[in-house]
Amino acid sequence: MGSSMRAASAVARGDGQKARRELTLSSAEITADIQLSIQHEQDLVVALQAFLAGMPNATNAAFLAWARSMHVMQRYPELLGWGEAVIVPASRLAAFAASATAHPVGRLGPGGSFQVVPPGRRPYYCFIRLDEGRTAADAPPAGFDFCTGDVGAVNLAARSSGKGSYIPVTMGTTTSLSVETPVYRGGSVPPSPAARRSAFIGWAGMGIVPKVVLDRVLADHPDMAVTLRYGAGTSAIAFRAGSAPPGAATTTIRLHNGWSIETSGAVARAGWFANANAFGPLLGGIALSVLLGALVYVLGTGRSRANELVRQRTEELRHQALHDALTGLPNRALVLDRMEQMLVRARRNQLAVAVLFIDLDEFKGVNDTLGHKAGDDLLAAVGARLAGAVRAGDTVGRLGGDEFVVLVEGTSLTAGAEVVAEKLLLVLSTPFTLPASDVPLYLTASIGIATGDRAQPEELLRDADIALYQAKAAGRQRVVVFSPAMHSAIEHRHQLEVDLHLALDAGQFFLLYQPMIDLGTRLFTGVEALLRWDHPERGVVMPDEFIPELEASGLIVAVGAWVLEEACRQGAAWQAMGYRIAISVNVSGRQLALDRIADDVRRAVVASGLDPGQLVLELTETTLMDDVDAAVARLAPLRALGVRLAVDDFGTGYSSLAYLRRFPIDVLKIDRSFVSGIADSRESAALVHTLVQLGKVLGLETVAEGVEDDNQRLRLQAEHVDTGQGFLFSRPLDAAAVGRLLERSAAQREATSPIEEPVAEEA
Ligand code: C2E
Ligand code: CA
Ligand code: CA
Repeated sequence: MGSSMRAASAVARGDGQKARRELTLSSAEITADIQLSIQHEQDLVVALQAFLAGMPNATNAAFLAWARSMHVMQRYPELLGWGEAVIVPASRLAAFAASATAHPVGRLGPGGSFQVVPPGRRPYYCFIRLDEGRTAADAPPAGFDFCTGDVGAVNLAARSSGKGSYIPVTMGTTTSLSVETPVYRGGSVPPSPAARRSAFIGWAGMGIVPKVVLDRVLADHPDMAVTLRYGAGTSAIAFRAGSAPPGAATTTIRLHNGWSIETSGAVARAGWFANANAFGPLLGGIALSVLLGALVYVLGTGRSRANELVRQRTEELRHQALHDALTGLPNRALVLDRMEQMLVRARRNQLAVAVLFIDLDEFKGVNDTLGHKAGDDLLAAVGARLAGAVRAGDTVGRLGGDEFVVLVEGTSLTAGAEVVAEKLLLVLSTPFTLPASDVPLYLTASIGIATGDRAQPEELLRDADIALYQAKAAGRQRVVVFSPAMHSAIEHRHQLEVDLHLALDAGQFFLLYQPMIDLGTRLFTGVEALLRWDHPERGVVMPDEFIPELEASGLIVAVGAWVLEEACRQGAAWQAMGYRIAISVNVSGRQLALDRIADDVRRAVVASGLDPGQLVLELTETTLMDDVDAAVARLAPLRALGVRLAVDDFGTGYSSLAYLRRFPIDVLKIDRSFVSGIADSRESAALVHTLVQLGKVLGLETVAEGVEDDNQRLRLQAEHVDTGQGFLFSRPLDAAAVGRLLERSAAQREATSPIEEPVAEEA
């Protein structure tokens, strides 16, 4: 069995080497934790910069409202205060003093007066304009001039260089780190010093107490000491916490951004093994709770932070956030917002309103036969036509994929919503010519309509969706108006459920297999089995559309058992042909919740003759986290069968990652959403880095999902991700196509040349 082999090899390692390894591992986790905190802080600077660039004249009240809405003080316990400092020329001193007396930021002098500290007449001063402090006592004097002395020199240098400054400041017994980042009009840093001086708005400033972070990090490591350093030579800053016993070993890790961390500690502490039983000797000694705790912290606030960033009024961001990049049309969020306004107007003025939900018929075929680029061009063209066909006051939006929505109200509806719908179908019926080809493309669409008053825009949209479902079920190019008789989601789900009940027996399910590629050797190493449903009327239905229903109805248990059987049968067939590839099968939470899962897996493996070591069960992070104890209990017998376990969609189920170490897992599949941003979003790149490091620390294979282009692949290779899966390498294929690929790659393996060509599209 896999785990006992591992135990043997771990024990075989020398004790000294093991102890050393433990120190390195705990240093690595401490480092990861601190690095996350630094990133976390940098995110805050970015947010503040965006706020200042977007609202250069914001009042302190506006700043406070924004800061409080983000719960900054709660989320950043190490933050002493933050805000903005600006340059005030002598000519404006009186005006600044007057306004600072009326709305003080910081502490006023005796009798509520604004006093310059240190006193004196200078050509200009630097005062705090916006400030949120943890306690009133920590607030600097309102008239404190930040441009005097050494600190002043550093701040002014930061303004000209465009680079932030880090200065240790000691007040009383607390040493804090003052981080000042220059902010310029437009948000970006102008190229020359002169341009920087003229576009300068102010400094985004933060006071941080690193000891809070370090103490938090060390809470789980009582016999360790940590020193956090920034910079080099005389300008270096160091913050220390904890104490190490005499004779402690020290490890230094550089964070690549000017920071480094020194961790000192005695090695090999028995306590670390205390609750590592689930992981067995492989991971014994790795106290991950700290690292994971930090991940939870960052990931847990990541969504809301991202949302807040988006909400930071700069028009550009706002546009991006509310419009679909491909068509430039309002996206779901904006559509819902407009619907809400429309519903308010309708109620007030007794106006008729309607939502038209439009879905292209067989758009998937276009994507599959002509490629993604053509699909995108077509969607853009459809968006443009729809937008051109409605009146000025009406809204056309794209909800995603090939789904569009049109909001119409008032006089646009005089002849009825169906007339509008027919007009839209007519507009779409003229063939499209795409830049890539001169073959005219004929397209049809189906439309679901919902009218009338509903409390929430989502309800109206859902009605329209139900009507659309009926329209689709009726055939191509139909328009259906929602009626309460379709009775809402229940009806929709009911139809789906009825259809799904028949599907298994009718043999309508089939599997496709998406190749996984070793990013180091580029060899084809495995496949993920992906379920498809060949619906008699709707054609091939993707899992996102029916798996939720299979789960809700419990049918997933039977269907999941079939998937296991089928995937193992196919895997064994390839095995019999002499190919050794891993077969990954998705297992849903509903399956894992029942005892029979172990039987289902055993039966599938035994009946097929597949080597259990070749089977990987993919469980989403959220499934595992649902009920940690139950999942741990359920995984042990699975693992005992010799199959491997993977955490799917890793990084998205951030709620309680701290439990991850309790699961006997082998593979981490980093979620597509992080991979897709790796080449152009620093947040995603940093997150992928962290997740990969986490995988490495845990000794797991890392798989990146959804690799779509070479840029992403290169980044992932640079991060030493083991395995890649995605459209870049191949779409999901039918078994026959996988067979051909196996043949080809076996030939290549002999010629030792890796896969170069992406392979054919999904069947
Ligand atoms: P998943 O487990 O995350 O599977 C990967 C999904 O990403 C697949 O979608 C795959 O086609 C898609 N994908 C792969 N590479 C790329 C890429 O480069 N770009 C993009 N945009 N997408 C890519 P699919 O087949 O639609 O499956 C969707 C989800 O349905 C799966 O997500 C999985 O959660 C679920 N699912 C599929 N088959 C089964 C099954 O047999 N049982 C269970 N319980 N769930 C399944
Ligand atoms: Ca999966
Ligand atoms: Ca996944």
